[in-house]
Amino acid sequence: MQTNLFSGQSADLRTIRDRLRVAFGRDRSGVRVSAINQFIRSFISSRTMDWQSDRAFMRLLSRYRSPEALADAPVAEIEAALAGVQFADKKARELKAALLHIRARAGTVDLDFLAGLDVDTALLWLEQIRGVGRKIAAATLNFSVLRKRAFVVDTHIIRIMRRFGFVKPNAETEDVYDAVMAAARDMSADDLSEFHWHLKRLGQHTCKALKADCPICPLAETCLKRLETSYHSGHAA
Ligand code: SF4
Repeated sequence: MQTNLFSGQSADLRTIRDRLRVAFGRDRSGVRVSAINQFIRSFISSRTMDWQSDRAFMRLLSRYRSPEALADAPVAEIEAALAGVQFADKKARELKAALLHIRARAGTVDLDFLAGLDVDTALLWLEQIRGVGRKIAAATLNFSVLRKRAFVVDTHIIRIMRRFGFVKPNAETEDVYDAVMAAARDMSADDLSEFHWHLKRLGQHTCKALKADCPICPLAETCLKRLETSYHSGHAA
């Protein structure tokens, strides 16, 4: 799955990783759930605040005794449990369809068998499900008890990696994924999830979509956007 699109380097990746570790500390926390439960959690989380999608996920867990029961539940009932989640009606419909799809292909609503597949094959398997892109597939593999080496790319991470100059300005999810995975050969699955949470935190509080707060950013010294901005303001002065 590697492409030639990326301009990232292992040294750049280590620089970003190390600076974020100094800024935010080591982060090995996070409760790992089964692959199918992580799949459900990731499926409902897009465009929704983490605390709201986590709350909806806990409601699903408490209402349905198993992923099988959730797959067999009426869409309207699932939608009610997803209250507070963006596009709850669409997600309820698509989540049920996705779980039925998994049952049809795997024989049961369970993804533990992915443990026996290599990462690229497991990603391909998951991405054949309607509504599942690289983000959900990688989160299922990396954040769950499967603990596979897959990097979860969200909109914060795309924005930061573009601005930093690690990928091209028009790079999309798969480009960022390929660039990071190619440069992260010495990073374990836990390192990759820590890297995700650190970048996400930077994107939420410092390198925001509408305003990049470069003066307080731990990546400022080596960030392309920061260097370009300094160069242009120096010329204008
Ligand atoms: S220096 Fe500025 S543009 Fe670069 S990553 Fe930090 S906040 Fe974003």
